[in-house]
Amino acid sequence: MARSLLASVVLAGVAALVVGRVDAQPVTTPAQADAVAPATKAAADAKPTSKSAAKSKTVSKSKTASKSKTASKSKTASKSKKLKGASKSKSASKAKKRSSAKIASKSKKQRSKKATRVASSSRADNMPRGFAWPPSEQMIAASKACESELDELGITWTRAAAEGRIVDPITVPSMELGGILYTSVYRKGPHKLDCHFVHTLAMIGPELRALGVREVRFGSIYRNTNVRVNGVTKNILSRHALGIAMDVNAFVDEYGRVAVVKDDYQLGDPLLLGIEQAINRTGKFRIVLTPKNDPISHDDHFHIEAAVDYTAPMLSRR
Ligand SMILES: [Zn+2]
Repeated sequence: MARSLLASVVLAGVAALVVGRVDAQPVTTPAQADAVAPATKAAADAKPTSKSAAKSKTVSKSKTASKSKTASKSKTASKSKKLKGASKSKSASKAKKRSSAKIASKSKKQRSKKATRVASSSRADNMPRGFAWPPSEQMIAASKACESELDELGITWTRAAAEGRIVDPITVPSMELGGILYTSVYRKGPHKLDCHFVHTLAMIGPELRALGVREVRFGSIYRNTNVRVNGVTKNILSRHALGIAMDVNAFVDEYGRVAVVKDDYQLGDPLLLGIEQAINRTGKFRIVLTPKNDPISHDDHFHIEAAVDYTAPMLSRR
């Protein structure tokens, strides 16, 4: 009994240590979930197997337990104890396996810290065209061009401190872009975004307005996390970490009606369906992830992200 409690504490401790390294491993919960845009509609519509669903449940449960980094040790221990009770040895061996895998990847990362400065091949899969880290001269030039574009559009913006892999971190004090107000559901601003994302949102504004949208209520923009799709977290850096993606919980129309993705999308809410189509039509965004094409990780929000291309000059993409 005492030994298993000790084991739980050690396991939770290792997990908490790993959680601290957000860059190395994902820490998203399904609620914060994020994903890579599926390449095809067939892929997007593919239903997850019950096996993967069960797996994701176990994983997210154990993540929740390990997430309580700030909670007291005993709380963490009792949580993981509870978790063990729920799905005994299976969950324990899984957690062990995960922990050792994480430790392995951690030491590997430490050994070749310099090499990981440049995006690894698996992470590069989800990066915009022409993306490199640290940013190339081409990317820096593209960012300067973007800033000039914002000035021309009359958008007031402020340079922000570097964070994650945001190429050109800025804030927009008004958070009003293209006639649409962007408000956070969970936290006060300022909200860091990449210049290219600000520009893309400004461009889609008139189309959203034409549909009747006046306000977008978002859960998060910048987050240093990995991609999560169909309940599975992948070893691919999320575009939230680049400041070019946003998770949207609800849209408010000109009459003040709030269309909530979680409640209204499955009911066929015409505003939500119209917004999804409009965004996908522009070609300025990657395919919107919704409760329909990713029911597990996107059951309560739209994931929208700018299709940034650093190899193409800014003006030609307008
Ligand atoms: Zn997202």
